[in-house]
Amino acid sequence: SEATERPGLTLLIAAPRGFCAGVDRAIEIVERSLERYGAPVYVRHEIVHNKYVVDALKAQGAIFVEELDEVPDDAPVVFSAHGVPKSVPAEAERRNMIYVDATCPLVSKVHRQAERQIEKGQHIIFIGHAGHPEVIGTMGQVDEGDITLVETVEDVATLSFSQEDDLSYLTQTTLSVDDTAEIIAALEERYPQIVGPKAEDICYATSNRQAAVKIIAPGSDLVLVIGAPNSSNSLRLVEVAERLGTNARLIQRADDIDPAWLEGIGTIGLTAGASAPEKLVREVVEKLAEWREVTEQTITAAEEKMVFKLPRQLTE
Ligand code: SF4
Repeated sequence: SEATERPGLTLLIAAPRGFCAGVDRAIEIVERSLERYGAPVYVRHEIVHNKYVVDALKAQGAIFVEELDEVPDDAPVVFSAHGVPKSVPAEAERRNMIYVDATCPLVSKVHRQAERQIEKGQHIIFIGHAGHPEVIGTMGQVDEGDITLVETVEDVATLSFSQEDDLSYLTQTTLSVDDTAEIIAALEERYPQIVGPKAEDICYATSNRQAAVKIIAPGSDLVLVIGAPNSSNSLRLVEVAERLGTNARLIQRADDIDPAWLEGIGTIGLTAGASAPEKLVREVVEKLAEWREVTEQTITAAEEKMVFKLPRQLTE
């Protein structure tokens, strides 16, 4: 009998993909806090939106909670990379707690912009996704009533401000580059007086990962995005591929892949959201190689060299 040859599969692997500097830093903050203060170290909200990362830190002695009132006064607590409303560190101060803020410096930058805009007497229109912890954190930098959330171009049409009002806008860091440009254009059309940040708030990691998917998607029969269902930047990567007409699926791990997806498929594009470790990418490649003769090709959209400093309390 003839030996059956495994059919080939080309993998277009996006670069950059996976961990960004803010996620790297947040994970290191939890690990160093565990070394410095000893277990348990509490973490308010998933440090980054990835179950694999969270489980690995749990195994080292981290305890994840949603709110500060679940943390004992005498235990150290880390705030997640997404940022927190001002009321959270204020409460930690009031309770004399040891806390370490793992908010990504690029999110903190938006927080400071929000404060500055309010000082100038502007009302802020914030572009973001309702309910995401980063949005709750940024909106919580200023008084309720000083900031209005818009999620879509349609939302812009429902705003009741006038062209006399002193308006500014800010955005979440992990949005779709294209959608955000449309929302900003709609805002500028309705309110020509509106002012924005010098450069957009969408972070380098979000834009680079989207740019890489734009390159790999047109030549792929299917795009796989490794990331969590609550990871904003990962969901945006799925959308970017789909808008280019390529089927895309969000998977958390290699086990989520249904072999039936591979039927009739010769090329798969592969990427990972900013909170997904490279280990999960390798797992997916190995899984696919069980079924097919895989050829890997890395497609690079940008080089990243960003590194963020750790908080001084962990390095002194
Ligand atoms: Fe920071 Fe961007 Fe990474 Fe979010 S995705 S942690 S804003 S670098």
